[in-house]
Amino acid sequence: MEYSYDLKGNNLYIEENRIPAYSLEENEIGNCTSCDSILMSLSYHAAGERTLVVTKCISCGAFYANVYDSGWNWVDEVQVSLLPIPIPISNQIIDDWKGLEAIPIKKLEAVFSRGEIEALFARAKDETPTRQYLYRARKKYKLFEEIFDIELAF
Ligand SMILES: [Zn+2]
Repeated sequence: MEYSYDLKGNNLYIEENRIPAYSLEENEIGNCTSCDSILMSLSYHAAGERTLVVTKCISCGAFYANVYDSGWNWVDEVQVSLLPIPIPISNQIIDDWKGLEAIPIKKLEAVFSRGEIEALFARAKDETPTRQYLYRARKKYKLFEEIFDIELAF
């Protein structure tokens, strides 16, 4: 059987079955099999007669699920793999000089001319940009966003 764990929602999955946590209590639960440090509980799950406690080693970071029977007798320890946490697909929005400066120049150069880049920096620093360059640069914001998922907003 495959055990996986969703860190964000504290859900344990046994194969395809989602078992939500009934408690998020933190307790010391024995020792790590790989480094012998202390395991702390992350969440408690009820699966039929059994209780599963998902634990994380405080030292090496390994995840396990400890399985107990209805009388809290330890039955088994199983490996738990982590489910990837989905990254929100919203674009990065750049609206100040610090943000602009953090964009690799190569990316800017791929879309904007030198004059346009200077105008962008001037605008972001609240200096007076060359109007014509800024105007041209702004027309390329959409293109820049499409290529790099970075939205310029100044
Ligand atoms: Zn460990």
